[in-house]
Amino acid sequence: MIRYIDDLQLTGKRVFIRVDFNVPLEGRRVTDDTRIREALPTIRRALEMGGKVILASHLGRPKGPDPKLSTVLVAEKLAELLPRKPGDKHEVIHADDCVGDNVKKQVNDLKAGQVLLLENLRFHKEEEANDEAFSRELAALADVYVNDAFGTAHRAHASTAGMVPFVKEKAAGFLMRKEIEYLGDKVLRNPQKPFVAILGGSKVSDKIKVIESLLPKVDALLVGGAMAYTFLKAQGIEVGKSRVEEGDKLALAAKLLDTAKRLKTPLVLPIDHIVCADLEGKGPVKETPDQVVPADMMGLDIGPKTRAMFTQRIRDAKTVVWNGPMGLFEVAKFAEGTRSVAAAMSINKDAITVIGGGDSAAAVEQMGYADKMSHVSTGGGASLEFLEGRELPGIKALETK
Ligand code: ADP
Ligand code: MG
Repeated sequence: MIRYIDDLQLTGKRVFIRVDFNVPLEGRRVTDDTRIREALPTIRRALEMGGKVILASHLGRPKGPDPKLSTVLVAEKLAELLPRKPGDKHEVIHADDCVGDNVKKQVNDLKAGQVLLLENLRFHKEEEANDEAFSRELAALADVYVNDAFGTAHRAHASTAGMVPFVKEKAAGFLMRKEIEYLGDKVLRNPQKPFVAILGGSKVSDKIKVIESLLPKVDALLVGGAMAYTFLKAQGIEVGKSRVEEGDKLALAAKLLDTAKRLKTPLVLPIDHIVCADLEGKGPVKETPDQVVPADMMGLDIGPKTRAMFTQRIRDAKTVVWNGPMGLFEVAKFAEGTRSVAAAMSINKDAITVIGGGDSAAAVEQMGYADKMSHVSTGGGASLEFLEGRELPGIKALETK
């Protein structure tokens, strides 16, 4: 069982919240504050419940202390975003480390309603090493542990897993709850039928485990993106210069097609393509009449017949989960397949619609469909591992008996 922040008593307690403040930076400027905004409901609730809030996150990939990756850059942004009234500021105290005597003193001085943001956890290599002594030091700062950082839940680090058993009480934050509710309950455990999964993106090899995990659960699996070409080639269809994974991946694709046949689950491949000889779309862009890609061309998006076929399947579904773009959507000429899947999902108001995966989420965001989905996962790698049916260390650590 997992408890949520609302289930706890926080008055006067030191509430350690593992957040995901791994925001993009340009110099000293936060260029996208989405992740900070997404953590606000949990932070505000902890404050309203009378907690002393201690926030911890990693930022970038430092190799030891690095002022360019200090969370102090985030503290300023958070101080602006935290108050419910725009223009107000809520003081965010910054600690210049995440462990040690200075931090302990700052935590002891903290009063209910105050916020302390710790320095970048990854300034210590012990964080990613999930070192026990370091975990205990972090745990010593907390009466209650809350995890709201789904994006790192697939990693067993000190702040996501190691420290948790050493804190008296633990719970998931609101963001984490939404991820578990949608990816876990509404997609993997209790999907409303018909359940359709759409997979795309660059490589079959990245998604094998997701395919294996979803095939027995879904009513249909639609495949687009570059990975479709490995499946097509495995069936002996000419794919020209399309991106294909050769060798054992072809055999693997053939095996997955067999599994689908055995389960009687349609594994639906593109029936036409948008092709071009150039990745940037210079030179003629053509629609193919069928599954065959001309020898000197690459398949860079699904074609119009495939779009219509996928749209129909999505329209009739009650649960739709999607990971991986249908084409090289970064180039406008090859973005239509991805857009049509997003549009079809957004229109189906009777269905639970869930997006997992970094590039797919970015595509949906960029195309303006994000707020029309039931859920867009905030974790790229974490959502993939979740869909693989794996137990994520950061979620497992929150389980109580
Ligand atoms: P996600 O991050 O959503 O899991 P992936 O990382 O697996 O998705 O794949 C995304 C990438 O796949 C994008 O950069 C996209 O351009 C690329 N891609 C999709 N279809 C094709 C294609 N037909 N040819 C080449 N690249 C493709
Ligand atoms: Mg990706």
